[in-house]
Amino acid sequence: MSFYDIDQHGVTQSILTTYLTCRQKCAHSLSGLSTGRPEPDYFWFGDMIHWLLEHHYQGNSPEVSDWIEYRRSLSRKDADKFNPKKASQDQANLIAVGEILFDVYKWTWKPTDRKIKWKGLEVEFTQPFEYAPGEWVLLRGKRDGLFQWRRRGPEGKRLYTFETKTISQDKGSAKMRQLEFDFQNLFYLTATEDEVAARCWGTYYNLIRKPGSKQKVNETPEEYRDRMRKEIEKKPTYYTHRYECAYSLRQTRVFRKHLAALLTEFVPWVRNGCSPAIPNSSVCLTMGQCTYLDACASGKPRGYVTRNRVHPELSED
Ligand code: SF4
Repeated sequence: MSFYDIDQHGVTQSILTTYLTCRQKCAHSLSGLSTGRPEPDYFWFGDMIHWLLEHHYQGNSPEVSDWIEYRRSLSRKDADKFNPKKASQDQANLIAVGEILFDVYKWTWKPTDRKIKWKGLEVEFTQPFEYAPGEWVLLRGKRDGLFQWRRRGPEGKRLYTFETKTISQDKGSAKMRQLEFDFQNLFYLTATEDEVAARCWGTYYNLIRKPGSKQKVNETPEEYRDRMRKEIEKKPTYYTHRYECAYSLRQTRVFRKHLAALLTEFVPWVRNGCSPAIPNSSVCLTMGQCTYLDACASGKPRGYVTRNRVHPELSED
């Protein structure tokens, strides 16, 4: 059996967006190709925020030190960056900024959060989807949350998905317009609607904004953290922002058609050995340098390793 078996592993939104971005990149990824390098800092920063929020909403009063313990227990290989005595100053500062953001988030959203009734937090889904008559594929993913408002009447029965993202750049109102047809939101919403056999009315998009400012040359770590705390506390709803994205029936129906059309193309492509794996050289450098640049440039995947999981973001393959 090859590394990726579509019938067993299903499709995630990230596989499909990679396919839309560059088929060669998708083919490399589905063959399990990886640089084997440790995850970049922005990746574990997002993991820290997700973990803290999950445990916060479960009522566990988590501390950043709990998350550090958890991360160190997962992997001895990259435990040093979570060890306060061995981490670089940049890594220690990033953890400190995450802690400040988490504090500010809790008091900023406490009044709104009291009105939320959680139906699930950080739940993985595996949902069959019929993309063509008699043709099924598993939609896979992990929802940050599913909730209803504590309201009387029909409004209190409406379901919403909850999605947290950590970002560093301000995309302002353009982001709001993009969310109107955001692939991940609508992919999760579609899978959830089929899973719970009920309509989902939208997504609460929870943005945690990482300040771009770094420690200055003449600044001590304590001074940097004080400056960050003041900056974040001054603009709490800028650094921890929520967008309410309501999706109409028309929008969700249109997305279902788009998803079906995409899968009608994608599934046979996978069954054909991910061929043709057309490279899209216009995106190699647009979201940072593509991890497969060396493989594409030389035509050989030399120096790469095979990763051990098909969906690193999910607990089970
Ligand atoms: S280097 Fe460019 S062409 Fe190659 S996989 Fe990455 S994005 Fe695609």
